[in-house]
Amino acid sequence: NYRARSAFKLIEIDDKVKILKPGQIVLECGAAPGAWTQVIVQRINSDGKGTGIKKRRKGMGVGTVIGIDLLPIAPLEGAIFLDGCDFTSLESVQKIKDILAMNRKARIIGDSSINEEVGIGVRDGMVVGEVGRDELKFGEEVADKEDTGEGGNEKNGESTNGDTNGLVDVVLSDMAPNATGQRSTDHPRIVRLVESALVFAIKNGKSGGHFLAKVWDGSDVKRLEGFLEKYYEKVSRHKPPSSRSDSSELFILGKFKK
Ligand code: SAM
Repeated sequence: NYRARSAFKLIEIDDKVKILKPGQIVLECGAAPGAWTQVIVQRINSDGKGTGIKKRRKGMGVGTVIGIDLLPIAPLEGAIFLDGCDFTSLESVQKIKDILAMNRKARIIGDSSINEEVGIGVRDGMVVGEVGRDELKFGEEVADKEDTGEGGNEKNGESTNGDTNGLVDVVLSDMAPNATGQRSTDHPRIVRLVESALVFAIKNGKSGGHFLAKVWDGSDVKRLEGFLEKYYEKVSRHKPPSSRSDSSELFILGKFKK
């Protein structure tokens, strides 16, 4: 009951490389129709239900996933969707940062069910919140005391004022342009998308965090990997069994951000 068979690619990769953990903050680029998101929600426990997690523990972290896509995405419990948004636009990146900043503050006061409690949602491509950003400015003393559990949660009250540097545990990209079938056109286009996700990950990724992106094979993959190696401890390529062998698609992983 996944929205698309693409879910199995993420399942197979993550079973092998184990980058998704309960409590993490995950940005997913190219999320429609939401099949990867379904897998992510389970593995980071962003719906708080603990399904799909093998070793359940009391007080297990509740994660957050923000999924962005140009296309509409049907709502999914435990996910925040920014649909109708181009990830490569500055405006979209700002929206993501706004959500992260709101989410961060809510986590610091120990609210794990951010999506309902704080009422952050996205309608018509706009971030809407029942609680305005000003009301989310909590005192430093609160920020220092409270912290919810493991995984993606902030450890202290540093970098307030909407600064989202170092906040995201995992950045994933399954973004793909409309393929023309011509490698010389399609390859550079998908590489641009991967680069935009990587730039975001470098700026907003947590140290020790991870980056995974789909790319269509071509001359720039090596260059991308070289770039990844500057920022991540371990760089590897993955071709999950459910990815058709006649497709040039492969996934590049940067593990443990420096
Ligand atoms: N991972 C998804 C799933 O499992 O349901 C499938 C993603 S699909 C292969 C690729 C998606 O990337 C498309 O929905 C497309 O709209 C999106 N995409 C392409 N360019 C984008 C951009 N600039 N910003 C946001 N999304 C983009």
